[in-house]
Amino acid sequence: MEQVKRYAFEGEVIEVPLRWDEGAQTYVEDYKSVIENPIYSPSGRPVLLTIEDACPYTDMADDNPDSIDCGSCRHYHQFPGSLLGVCRNEQRRSGVKPKRTKARAKKEDTT
Ligand code: SF4
Repeated sequence: MEQVKRYAFEGEVIEVPLRWDEGAQTYVEDYKSVIENPIYSPSGRPVLLTIEDACPYTDMADDNPDSIDCGSCRHYHQFPGSLLGVCRNEQRRSGVKPKRTKARAKKEDTT
């Protein structure tokens, strides 16, 4: 039976796979599995590592040039005690066709 950890977020239950850690002698979140097999909330929100590169639809929480990942984005909600979280950006929801952002439009118009 597959081991999972469940997080409740905005009325949804999100399941994260676990793996047995021999050294710690306990189950830990299986980040490698999440990278290889991306998971989504039941309504299609992506579950991402906080260190994932920011996407073109990011809205950074500050102007710090070092802010380059999902963990720095206003759309990201990190699970407590985890390196995973949910992206709340509607543009990233599974099945939603992304709109052109200003940055993306500028890039596309100059190429
Ligand atoms: S919009 Fe979502 S995927 Fe894009 S940077 Fe923000 S949290 Fe990450």
